[in-house]
Amino acid sequence: MADHWGYDKHNGPDKWGESYPIANGSRQSPIDIKSSTTTYDEKLTPLKLKYDPSTSLDIQNNGHSFQVSFVDDQNSSTLTGGPVTGTFRLKQFHFHWGSADDKGSEHTVNGKCYPAELHLVHWNTKYPSFKDAVDKPDGLAVVGVFLKIGADNPKLQKILDAMDAIKSKGKQTPFPNFDPSVLLPSSLDYWTYLGSLTTPPLLESVTWIVCKQSISVSSAQMKRFRSLLFSGDGEKACCMVNNYRPPQPLKGRVVRASFK
Ligand SMILES: [Zn+2]
Repeated sequence: MADHWGYDKHNGPDKWGESYPIANGSRQSPIDIKSSTTTYDEKLTPLKLKYDPSTSLDIQNNGHSFQVSFVDDQNSSTLTGGPVTGTFRLKQFHFHWGSADDKGSEHTVNGKCYPAELHLVHWNTKYPSFKDAVDKPDGLAVVGVFLKIGADNPKLQKILDAMDAIKSKGKQTPFPNFDPSVLLPSSLDYWTYLGSLTTPPLLESVTWIVCKQSISVSSAQMKRFRSLLFSGDGEKACCMVNNYRPPQPLKGRVVRASFK
């Protein structure tokens, strides 16, 4: 597989372990969140997400997904509270999605898939930078938000309007003044567990915070996600779809809920 991981049969999630043995580690993500095995934890405090729109920088197609990056040299866009201690800074957000509306999320709930999942990636400021935090057991906090088919979501429009400019791998365009809090559900009730990055290098550094409430997306809007390409200019066009890793074994981990 070398370093060319992807989501195809020859380089997809089933093959990642060949180059990244931690793929079979003890705290891998995503997982299926089973309500029968989650426990309410009254000690979990509310999640606090404070985002400053002036920190949004650009949007890019990285060949696996697209992501919006943020300036993270100060505590301007932060996550505090919830299951973590200290202050975490927003680095980027990205999505995972399917080839059709019946699949695409990475986490599942009682076996149920959503058509897409948003990940807001934050790093622990007890470390000097994202790079230093990314391989530490308490280095990252990622908020997951499910997208569910429903009404057109106007809050996604600015993102979808940028798709044409980042159609192929490596493309990037400025994305100023975007407030990621518009993408959050009205309730921040969550499940939390200790896990990993869901893409190589699959580092076991993530405190996952998965929101119970989803946000809406229409089928037409999902089609715009699927208009992106895994491939670069001059390569055979290959639609960016099914860029999700399936659920991994729980291996004795506990999933806590902030709600009853
Ligand atoms: Zn992700």
